[in-house]
Amino acid sequence: MAIEGSSVTHARSAAAYRADHDRLYGRRWRRAAKRFLFGQPLCRLCFDIGLTVAASVVDHIQPHQGDFALFWDEGNWQSLCKPCHDGAKAQLERTGALRGCRPDGLPVDASHPWNCLGGATPADLGP
Ligand SMILES: [Zn+2]
Repeated sequence: MAIEGSSVTHARSAAAYRADHDRLYGRRWRRAAKRFLFGQPLCRLCFDIGLTVAASVVDHIQPHQGDFALFWDEGNWQSLCKPCHDGAKAQLERTGALRGCRPDGLPVDASHPWNCLGGATPADLGP
């Protein structure tokens, strides 16, 4: 019985992904993440907009995509609440931009042009 090449490739990559995921997110990760959250208990994205929200997820700032070294690099970790992890951060990874504003009205996304005005606000620039 012949199997379509793309189906075999897809099935193999899904199995490989699952194996990598299980290998990375095992007991060692759960213990490391728990320790990290103990040290940094607040959601970083909520904190940036002036909210105090308990974090429950350790997020990889730069997606590791199976890279073992990047996965375990604590400098690449941040504490997030579940809504930020599943919402804003997921959107950032999809679109490359973080939506929302801080209490001062400037965009949360540090790479937004309004955050690159050298201290000037959009109102300073005039119409
Ligand atoms: Zn949050």
